[in-house]
Amino acid sequence: MAGNKAEFGVIGGSGLYSLFENPKELDIDTKYGKPSDKVSLGTINGRNVAFIPRHGRNHTIPPHMINYRANLAAFDSLGVKRIISITAVGSLRMDFVPGDMAFPSQFINLSNGRKETYFDAEPVTHVSTAFPYCPEMRKNAINVGTYDNIKYHENATLVVINGPRFSTMAESKLFNSMGADIINMTQYPEITLAKELAMCYLSIAVVTDYDAGIEADQRIPPVSLEDVNKRFEANMHKVKLMLSDIIKDTAQERSCDCGKSLDNAQMHKS
Ligand SMILES: [Zn+2]
Repeated sequence: MAGNKAEFGVIGGSGLYSLFENPKELDIDTKYGKPSDKVSLGTINGRNVAFIPRHGRNHTIPPHMINYRANLAAFDSLGVKRIISITAVGSLRMDFVPGDMAFPSQFINLSNGRKETYFDAEPVTHVSTAFPYCPEMRKNAINVGTYDNIKYHENATLVVINGPRFSTMAESKLFNSMGADIINMTQYPEITLAKELAMCYLSIAVVTDYDAGIEADQRIPPVSLEDVNKRFEANMHKVKLMLSDIIKDTAQERSCDCGKSLDNAQMHKS
């Protein structure tokens, strides 16, 4: 492992393997177990980037079975300080149209039964997640979205459900009434584990469908897996362009407070 370092950790679909020209593949084991797959290490615009396919390279791991702790711990072992998460999301509103991108600014967690912390024992740790997404990286993403001419939503609340099934119409309506704009199954606990490791976290969400359909318009059919895959893959070229530009425009030193997320978050024996 000596010498293997990365600044950025990208987690996304296996369509992102072509990010690097000649990636190095690392078989990393962590104290939490194995990550979803081997970690690819390569460079984008001269910066070292590590990549993990969230569901494994052949998409064999369902959302509730992903070893989120191992994925983030593997990045941590490479020195990664910034996570860029690429994810497919369903839309809960008419104005979030399939094909649009969104940079989530808040999440609501409704998943359950997942290993969601690195701190099951001492020191008892309570990280703040009031503003869970890195403000510096979100600002960069918004700038890049503008000059890359991408249709994006600057703010979005993402509700995370456990899955693996899709929502009922009543659930979809409820999530919207709770203030959620988009929905997926994987953002949590990935994002809060990153926080526990004092990493920055940016999410690039690709809208692929209208979840259970929008009640006001019965012509919109509910989501199917085929739609999700088709739309997600069709948007991968935009995602790759954005990723490359975001990485290029991100300063080496962090100006955000993400690195301080454990300060004053831990109980110490007096
Ligand atoms: Zn940050």
